[in-house]
This record gives sequence, structure tokens and C-alpha cells, in this order.
Amino acid sequence: MAEHKKNLAILGSTGSIGTQSLEVLDLIPDKFNIIALSAGNNIELVSEQIKKYTPKIVCVKTKEAADKLKEKHINTKFVYGDSGLIEIANLPEVEMVLVAVSGKIGLKPTIQAIKNKKDIALANKETLVMAGDIVMKLAREYNVNILPVDSEHSAIFQCLSNRKEVKHLVITASGGPFRNSTLEEMKDANLDEALAHPRWKMGKKITVDSATLMNKGLEVIEAHHLFNFKYEDIKVILHPQSYIHSAVEYNDGSIIAQIGNPSMHIPIQYALTYPERIEGIETESFDFVKAAKFEFYEPDMVKFPSLALAFEAGKKGGTYPVCLNAANEEAVFAFLEKKIKFLEIYEITKKIFDEYTSIENATLEQILEEDEKIRVKTRQLISKMRAL
Ligand code: NDP
Ligand code: MG
Repeated sequence: MAEHKKNLAILGSTGSIGTQSLEVLDLIPDKFNIIALSAGNNIELVSEQIKKYTPKIVCVKTKEAADKLKEKHINTKFVYGDSGLIEIANLPEVEMVLVAVSGKIGLKPTIQAIKNKKDIALANKETLVMAGDIVMKLAREYNVNILPVDSEHSAIFQCLSNRKEVKHLVITASGGPFRNSTLEEMKDANLDEALAHPRWKMGKKITVDSATLMNKGLEVIEAHHLFNFKYEDIKVILHPQSYIHSAVEYNDGSIIAQIGNPSMHIPIQYALTYPERIEGIETESFDFVKAAKFEFYEPDMVKFPSLALAFEAGKKGGTYPVCLNAANEEAVFAFLEKKIKFLEIYEITKKIFDEYTSIENATLEQILEEDEKIRVKTRQLISKMRAL
């Protein structure tokens, strides 16, 4: 009898994670049916993907884009916007949703998919930073697996066997392009320098976050929710080679780490095929001798204060992480548009954060309202700074 193929929806199929997940799926064609795809603005790429994968339904950002694609692909159903993503999360035949959109748009469809008892392969960290308590509670209630795609969380997921016997988590960070730069040099860092990540090729937002180490801060919050660890028990260590993707220290002093070449294909594939490990796209063995050097450093919180701010937001709880995420994202967008300088990303986020009053036990609606309020305030602050 033929093996059952899992029915998969990919949200954000045109992005860095989305395209790499399709590369993974190309090598394991017997395992999955691609039922749904979603894109934002990259209509050309999604059009090629539709030709190749013949999904039943595709979501794009706007009605115009949907109408245009419909002319070319008459057998595909097109939906658009937030409601289109929800429609995909509601499809009865979908068994797993890979959430690889960037930003807050991932949150609602993830929640909807959980409520429909679909397993989640989660790349979109904003979902857990904004609403980790709500999302994890729902996942338990609906008995749904949240399988981490983020490489550090995939590593921890693979190393955690008995949660009760673990002392702490060790999250590794490459240190980004400015690991060896001085604060003075970082002040004048331009966009190209911030986007020149030494290890990973990723979307622009997360690449800038990797340069400030805010990405690591968001990952600490993500790990807190995914694995239910106190912030005091989550350590961050710089490891420029990115061979150790993260580790877990047990009570007896044993450390179990997940090691491999830096490739997102591995965590993506493991999230998709869990609990199976199969031969897929990565066939080359890790060469210990060639790797030779594993270096480790303490993160410099003076050069990278965003990491400290993320720990603070996580520890304070309530909607502080929502504030951190929204203010940072708006500041990163402004940096990408060359409206502000690199170090101002942190300065703006910090100012908004310090003026913020958090809500305890916020509902999803309150979280989304707060998110919007903070974004407006951050954009106003940026306009004011630019007017000076
Ligand atoms: P990209 O920017 O490369 O891709 C984002 C995807 O989301 C694209 O498909 C994009 O569509 C879509 N998208 C963005 N905005 C919208 C919108 N408003 N409406 C509909 N679709 C939208 O990001 P990454 O792939 O790098 O990251 C995706 C997520 O995964 C992020 O949350 C990131 O933090 C996380 N992640 C990424 C890693 C990586 O290696 N890249 C590693 C770990 C986590 P389009 O391009 O068509 O506009
Ligand atoms: Mg990561």
C-alpha cells in the first residue's frame, strides 16, 4: 500500500524559509501533497510555484493580484489578505501548516489552524513573541504539535528528552556582521553592512535583527514559550561558526548539543517529517576535522543592548514583548528605508518600551490593538526625529 501523503499548506512560500522548504519537499515527493501556498508581493514567483506544485488554493496580498493570477491559472482558487490566510487554515483536508510568513500576519492563521487541529511547523517567531501564552495553551487544549523551524529551537527540541532533568537551555548566536565592530563603527553602519550576515541568507527583517542581536532576544522569548523555561534558565552564547545550533544542559552536568552545517534545510525538514528522520536534501556529512574550530564568547550587552531589552521584556511579561516586537519591527522597517541609522533601531525601541504600560493576561484582540497602537506611536517618533 502506498504511504499516506501528508497534506500541507505553506504560508509564505515565496520567502527565504518558504523557498527552502520547497527545496526540501522536492527531494521527498512521496511524503507531502502541497494543498495551499501563500505569497505577499512576489506574484511572479508564486505563479511559477503554482505551475510546479499545482496547489488547490493560493493566497496573495491583494484582490488585484488574485484576479491577475486567476487569468493565468484557471484551475486554482485564489484568496487574498488576512481572511485568505484564515481560509487556508480552515481547509478540512490540510493536516499541517508551515507558517513561514514574516511579521504579525502569522499570528491569526496559526491560531485558526490550531483550533482546526492542524499540526504547525512554525518559523514565524512573532507569533510566539506576541501571544506565546495564548498559542501554547491552545496547542495543549487542541492536542496539536508546534514543531519549531527556527534552527536554535529545532536544536533544543531535538536535545530535550526529559524536561524535568534539564538545568538550562543554551541558545547559540553567530554574533552577526558586527560581532567584531566597535560601537563607533556600528553608528555609521549602512544598510549593506547590516544585511551582510556572515552565516545565514534570510529575509531582510530577520537579517537586520541578527545584526542588533534582537533576533536572539526574540528567540529567547520564543524558547521560553515553546519549552516552558524561566528566562533565568535560558543562556545565550556567541558561537561565530554556527555549527552548534543550540544545546541543553542536564542536572548531572551533561550537555547535549545539536551540531551540523549551518543550513535551514535540516530544521525545516525535521519539523515537516517529525518524528521521522529521513534522507533528504542535505547529504553531505558534517566534517569535524574541516570545521576544526568551535569558538564561544559572552555576548556584549553594551554593544548589543537589544538582547538585554528582550530579556527584560520577557521577564516583565504581560504585553511588554508585544511592545518590544512592534517597536523594533517599525524601527527596522525605517532602517531598511534608510530613514534612521543603525543604532537608532535600538534607541527608538528602548524609548517606546520605557514609556509603555503593559496589560496583564491580554486577550488576542487586546494584543492586536496594543500592537497597532505601539506601531503608530513608533512611526510618529520616527517622523519627529526626522523632522529635527
Ligand atoms: P522573508 O521576508 O524572506 O519571507 C516572508 C514571506 O512572508 C514571503 O513569502 C512574503 O511574501 C510573505 N509576506 C510578508 N509580508 C506579507 C503580508 N503582509 N501578507 C502576505 N504575505 C506576506 O522572511 P523569512 O523567510 O526570512 O522569514 C519568515 C519567518 O521565519 C520570520 O518570522 C522569521 O523570523 C522566521 N525565521 C526565518 C529564518 C530564515 O533563515 N530565513 C530562520 C528562523 C526563523 P512576498 O515575498 O511574496 O512578498
Ligand atoms: Mg534562529
